[in-house]
Parts: sequence; C-alpha cells; structure tokens
Amino acid sequence: MGFTCRQCGTCCMYLGDYIVIERQSGPFEYHCSSVSTGTPFIARIDEDKRTLFEDHTWIDRHPVACSFLRPNGDLRLCTIHEMSPPQCKAYRCVVFRILAPDGRQVGTITGTLNLHTEDPNLQRIWEEHEGTIFHTEPETEEQIARLFESRGYRML
Ligand code: SF4
Ligand code: SF4
Repeated sequence: MGFTCRQCGTCCMYLGDYIVIERQSGPFEYHCSSVSTGTPFIARIDEDKRTLFEDHTWIDRHPVACSFLRPNGDLRLCTIHEMSPPQCKAYRCVVFRILAPDGRQVGTITGTLNLHTEDPNLQRIWEEHEGTIFHTEPETEEQIARLFESRGYRML
C-alpha cells in the first residue's frame, strides 16, 4: 500500500492562479507565493529540469497551469520539485485503489478521503459507515482499508 505519484501533472493543470511568481531573483530562482495558504516561498528550478523549464512552448498554450509545470514525454513534471511548497509535496490525488475479489478496479479513495465509485455495493458500504469514519484522525486511512478488506475487497 502507499501512494505513488505517476507524474501525470493533472493536479497542477489549474493551479496557475494559486502558485504565483512575484519576481525573478536569480537566473533560475523566483520569489513566489502560495495563494491558498498566503505563504511566500523561494523556488529554484531543479538543476536537471532547467532545459525543460526554459522551453515555454507548452506552458504558453496552457496559461491556467502552474508556471512551473512542463511536459516531458508522456509525463508532466514539476520543475521545482526539490523546493516546491509543502502542500504540493503532501498532495496525494488517490490514497487507495479498491479492487473487487475478481481483480477489477471498482473505486478509489481520494486524498481528501472521499470515495469515487460506480459500484453500488461499495457505495452502500461507504454510506453505512461514513458517519463513523473520523476524517481528521490519523488512523482514518487504516479504518477505511480495514472496512473494505473485511468485505472482500483489496486495497492498493
Ligand atoms: S498527485 Fe496524482 S494527479 Fe498529481 S501528478 Fe501525481 S498522479 Fe498525477
Ligand atoms: S509547484 Fe510543482 S507541484 Fe506545485 S502546483 Fe506547481 S508544478 Fe505542481
């Protein structure tokens, strides 16, 4: 178990208004602010991504994406990965993928601990127990995993 970012960049595609460059302070260094938390931070482009960052072809066509996002083959990379704000580092789009006993993926639990599924059985189990799952407790993820595993699902 455990989240692995696939570096698809989807979560960064609409964050251009939230991760704001205030001014450039060096060849690859920027004073920035994270609008959602109101915190300033210094961003330095990762050494191995500077060529990617300098190519503005893609970002100019995606003005609502975060200014530090760049495509690299099939991936979209954060070019300030080493110095990205804490909320970016902590972000997980999906905490669990839920597999039915036959191996089909039938749902996901998002990083905000919501269920996404079209499986009525899974939805029913969730609704029956949602009120007893404490969304702020550190063991909430384990509770969710145990709940579905006890009904025969696999949590990845
Ligand atoms: S956190 Fe999720 S949406 Fe964002 S890049 Fe990683 S896999 Fe993609
Ligand atoms: S700083 Fe990096 S991780 Fe954060 S929104 Fe921008 S590209 Fe995504």
